[in-house]
Parts: sequence; C-alpha cells; structure tokens
Amino acid sequence: MARSGPVEQSATRVRMAGSSRPGRVRTVNQDTVLADQVGGRPLLLVADGMGGHSTGEVASARASETILRELSSARAHPPLALARALQAANVDVLEHARSDTRHKGMGTTLTTVLIDDHVALIAHVGDSRAYLLRGGALRNLTEDHSWVAERVKQGLLSQDEARQHRWRNVITNALGANDAFRLDLAHVLLEPGDRLLVASDGVTAILPEALLKELLAEGEPEAVVERLLDAADQRGSPDNVSAVVAVIDAVNTAPRRYELPPELPEELPADGPWAVQMRQTLSGVRRVEDRYPARGPMRWLRRQAWYPYRLWILASAYLAFLLVLFVLLR
Ligand code: CA
Repeated sequence: MARSGPVEQSATRVRMAGSSRPGRVRTVNQDTVLADQVGGRPLLLVADGMGGHSTGEVASARASETILRELSSARAHPPLALARALQAANVDVLEHARSDTRHKGMGTTLTTVLIDDHVALIAHVGDSRAYLLRGGALRNLTEDHSWVAERVKQGLLSQDEARQHRWRNVITNALGANDAFRLDLAHVLLEPGDRLLVASDGVTAILPEALLKELLAEGEPEAVVERLLDAADQRGSPDNVSAVVAVIDAVNTAPRRYELPPELPEELPADGPWAVQMRQTLSGVRRVEDRYPARGPMRWLRRQAWYPYRLWILASAYLAFLLVLFVLLR
C-alpha cells in the first residue's frame, strides 16, 4: 500500500513514501498510513487503531479518510484546517462507534505532518511518533500520550523500563474514544536536507533511536521505509509496523497567510502551549486560531475588544435602524 512520488509545491520539493505491514505476529493490520498530498501540500500520516476484531482498522481508516476529505475542502489556513480536520475525525469515529455496539471502545492514535512550504505542521494524538533528522541529529517531535510516558515524566520509570513495561501499549489519549481529546499542534521550520519520519509504536517501541537515526539517514524514502519495517520485523515486533518518510530537497520560505508562534523547542516541556483540549465546540479551534492568527483585515477585527460582542452590536444597530425608520415613517 505504498504511495510515493515527488510533490512540487512552488519551490518546496519533497519526496516521500509510506508503508504498513501486519508484522510477524498479528494477522490483522489496524494501522493506516498516508504519504499523499492534499491541496498541493505533502501530507504524512500514521494512525494506529485500537479495539476488538474488525474495529481498530475501521477507526484508523475512517480517521485518515476524514482528515484527507476535510483538508481537501478546507478554506481556512493550514493550522486551523488541520485542527478542524482532527476534530471532524474524532466526531466521525465516535459516532460510528456509538452507532454499532460491535465497535464500542474503538479509537485510534493519529500523528500527521502537513508541509506548508517551509512550515511542517505536526498534529498529534496518542503514541505514534514524528521525528526530524537534521544535520545528523534525530529529534522526537511528539510526546507519547501513554501510561508509561506519564510515569517517565514523573520520574517513576526509566526509558528502558518503559520499553519493557507490560502496560507500554496503554494510551491515555486517542481519537474517536471520547467527546474530548488532547491535540498537540506545533510546527518546525524546514531546511533542505531535512528528513521526516512518522511511525507507529510497532516501529518506535522496538527500534532504539540510534538505529532509527542510522536507517533514516541514507537512501530514497521507499528504501528507508522498507528497511525500517524489515528491522522492526527482524527484532520481533509483536505489533503492526508502519512508517512514512519524507526527504526535503528544497524549501520555499515565502510569507504565509498566517502568523507563526515560536517553533517547537528542542526540549519539550510538559504540556506546552501546543497542547489543546479539543471538544465538539469551537473552544479548542479558537485556541489554535489564537496561536496561528490569519493575516489581513480579519486579524485586525479579531483583536478589537468589541469583537466577541459583534453579533450583539450588529443586532442592536439593526434594531436602532428599524426604530428610526418606524419613527420617521409614522
Ligand atoms: Ca500499535
């Protein structure tokens, strides 16, 4: 199910490939991968579904399809479109689970990178991961939303203990499992020569980061993906194995339609401003909009103190107008 090919986006050139296998132990593959483009923008996506028989794969496939569909019809700028797409995916999977008792408890992780010229937007829910390889250094761009990662953060488990822990697969945040979810939405500014990897825990929990770095460093995206999946298989990954790789050949740094907050820092402090509680209301989407405000007249309007009361003001003005009209005409 690998898809690949060069994606030309003005001066930004990206080569990418993705693939997914059930692995040596499982017969069913509940992961979904995309190495695609939407609205001319490269999109890397890995979703790792959970739930019983013929359930996890439905969740990961539905979430990915919803995100592709929402992004392809979106008119909002990319960070906002991405937040709304994940919100829509959460609702879609949740409603599907509620419509059929067989799908009770379904959900999916979802980690995606949308490349908007030199801005790589990372949207993340769960314990799949995104990595950036630059100048020989490998950086994890995502924080695992898992039981063991929380214990590591609190200093109760070491990284090695977390890898071996029998609860290492327990995630604390997923799409489609609840009305609310935590969305981590951040960005890094790309440079030519950068390499991106998005992978499911079937790969990242088995391969040490030193090996990920070595395998990611050389070769065409298709070959890198196959080597990563082979390595995870050879090391006896008990899980489905999925990886998407992008090689950034050139970047266009033309100004965007939106303002950028500070880039994702190298050291991730817990619960940075990129972590947003998303519900079925607009509150989470608004927070993303505040961090990535659109440029232009709407931005000026939104910054005005009266902006939240605009509908009241308009309605009052309209009533006043009717009143004047009534007085004049009687
Ligand atoms: Ca998995």
